[in-house]
Amino acid sequence: MRCPFCLHSDSKVLDSRQTEEGASIRRRRECTACSKRFTTYERLDEMPFLVIKKDGGREAFSRTKILNGMMRACEKRPISMETIEGIVDEIEREIRSGLDREVTSEHIGELVMDKLRELDDVAYVRFASVYRQFKDIDRFIEELQRIRKGK
Ligand SMILES: [Zn+2]
Repeated sequence: MRCPFCLHSDSKVLDSRQTEEGASIRRRRECTACSKRFTTYERLDEMPFLVIKKDGGREAFSRTKILNGMMRACEKRPISMETIEGIVDEIEREIRSGLDREVTSEHIGELVMDKLRELDDVAYVRFASVYRQFKDIDRFIEELQRIRKGK
């Protein structure tokens, strides 16, 4: 974010808060060159977002990736494309409403599992088995029993 006074390209963020409507984030910044302070507004849906993978590597947030994972889990289940897209929208909104610019892939996986659990047991177990990579059949059965007991 360029300093409006000296045009230096680096600044530090002093304070971040969401605007009342929740549609953008207001940041109070201080220029690292001239130390003058200024305020910027960033729209939530324009802000870049990084996903921290299990190995610590980062990649750009991909809505398509979540969508593909869910479509695989919901294959041949009575779940419409519209429902799946609606869930992906919800998840994206949830993630973007936080102030962090980074989210772990684990957290995204948990969000997807929460939504699928409410929606369809089979889709949930499929997703969870890929996502959690059940190492043995016992863990898998435990999870199934947990579902049968009533969520
Ligand atoms: Zn400056």
